[in-house]
Amino acid sequence: MTTLLTTHDITRIVTAHGLAQVLRRLAAYIEADFRRWPAFDKTARVASHSPDGVIELMPIADATHYSFKYVNGHPKNTRDGLPTVMAFGVLAEVATGRPELLSELTLTTALRTAATSALAARVLARPGSRTMALIGNGAQSEFQALAFHHLLGIDEIRLFDTDARATAKLMRNLGATPGLQLRPCDSTAAALRGADIVTTVTADKTRATILTPEMLAPGMHLNALGGDCPGKTELHPQVLRAAKVFVEYEPQSRVEGELQQMPADFPATELWQVLTHRMSGRDDAQQITLFDSVGFALEDYSALRWLRDSARELGLGERIALIPAPDDPKDLFGQLLPGACSAAGRGPRRQCLAK
Ligand code: NAD
Repeated sequence: MTTLLTTHDITRIVTAHGLAQVLRRLAAYIEADFRRWPAFDKTARVASHSPDGVIELMPIADATHYSFKYVNGHPKNTRDGLPTVMAFGVLAEVATGRPELLSELTLTTALRTAATSALAARVLARPGSRTMALIGNGAQSEFQALAFHHLLGIDEIRLFDTDARATAKLMRNLGATPGLQLRPCDSTAAALRGADIVTTVTADKTRATILTPEMLAPGMHLNALGGDCPGKTELHPQVLRAAKVFVEYEPQSRVEGELQQMPADFPATELWQVLTHRMSGRDDAQQITLFDSVGFALEDYSALRWLRDSARELGLGERIALIPAPDDPKDLFGQLLPGACSAAGRGPRRQCLAK
């Protein structure tokens, strides 16, 4: 049997542990997997592009588990009442190929992206950073805000979105967070003034220039999330030239990240090398650092491990017959015969061969 986790189960996990603890634990799972980077069989994600969006498959495996995520990115979706990003995924045993877990990953993507952002900022931002500019106040934004608040001690967040309703929604959701000051601003430049960290998490399927060089100040850490697909960027190329650039998985980031704007030999350091002390992160307090994040399959592998463990601890999830389980594994056809469904406890016989 396979365990199914739905959005309701994610809500139950967050309710049981609290969001701060969830983000801390998830960041620890992600860091543990980044630290054993060479153990993974890695590949850039497979993308199917269309005029208004992209649908991607993100596979990865180590010696014991294989995982993949199905995820889309359709910036115009919100006009039709659908999220820009939607996802689900599978964790399977490598030894047998048995799918162990089938889970929602839309909420979980927001959680894991926020945990990864905070993990990167912990090793790249100036110690003592207190103020963050958050540009783009859509679906991902509250998760980013709370990860930086709880995991890094950010206590002031300066907000800007071209859609004032998105900023108002964030203010409603997080306005009562103890110890967190939220300051709406009337432009990206205004939001960046005095910020130690800048998170850009906008959605537009275009070569946008959300950040331009004159907005930057020495020592800033830039956490750029919204440029994650060919032809979809957020930063002026001179911003990359002004910064030391860090990525998740270089072959994928060169195609999908802000790096797509730069020559093939433009320097970039993979985050795992900093986490394992093979390469330096920030070199001095004046340096501008940039985490050019596109989202990598390893983060979803970690998230699925965390979901599996959390569901076990809390007794969550439905056991579903995703894969047939005949007494004789060679008798697959027998599963179609009358009686097979009721024998498996999945309802009356007549539903078995329903037209
Ligand atoms: P969303 O559509 O819910 O929110 C995006 C927000 O950006 C909207 O409120 C929109 O008004 C705002 N925006 C658009 N253009 C802007 C501009 N020029 N200035 C200021 N605000 C602007 O989308 P979301 O789910 O929050 O995702 C945001 C982005 O993050 C998407 O591009 C998505 O692909 C990306 N993303 C990246 C990762 C990662 O791992 N790197 C993970 C998840 C999502």
